[in-house]
Amino acid sequence: MGTLFRITCDHCDTQPNVTFDGFVGAALTEFDKPGEVVSDGYVAYLSPQGKLVVLPHPLESSSLAAAGGSWTRSSLSGRLLRFTNLICLDCGTLNKTARIHSAGPGCILMVPMGVATFVLGEWLLPLPPWIMFTLSWVAAAIPPWIEGTYVNRVHGENAAPYRFQHCVQCGGSKAVPLSDALRKKLPCPKCAERTISITYAGKS
Ligand SMILES: [Zn+2]
Ligand SMILES: [Zn+2]
Repeated sequence: MGTLFRITCDHCDTQPNVTFDGFVGAALTEFDKPGEVVSDGYVAYLSPQGKLVVLPHPLESSSLAAAGGSWTRSSLSGRLLRFTNLICLDCGTLNKTARIHSAGPGCILMVPMGVATFVLGEWLLPLPPWIMFTLSWVAAAIPPWIEGTYVNRVHGENAAPYRFQHCVQCGGSKAVPLSDALRKKLPCPKCAERTISITYAGKS
């Protein structure tokens, strides 16, 4: 599930518009409000040929299959990248950054690991259930953590070319995720006034 944001310039925007960057359906609040609706980000598949294929939410699995990938293999080989949309604080232009997205066996093992820890712990240790519950919660986080650490160490370079360094428009180095820019007045790339505001727009 992705979060959607609306970027509105008080000067330039009179019409609502949705940019389908990484999602195919949206549940919007204030449907008629002017401005551009964009997502917080999306997952993309980096093919062995070096081609980036966006996996739009909620069709990630079928899009990955169509591109010839599988979750487990792509995740373990660092071919799933999580893109986050950023807004430049100097000029208001949208940029992106990427990191490795791991969603393979680590995620599949979360529930069995948590349940096994709870059952075994209850059986072996005379601890109150709430402590065992907390411990099993922590244990469940271990497999995805191991997977994430491994994939980042071995294949972290896959995300390097897509990491944000400088704004594509002004060359500035200060850009933040849309969720960090809510209710700030930012410069508009079209009219250059500080008339842009970002609000929560819904879910994809
Ligand atoms: Zn900029
Ligand atoms: Zn403007």
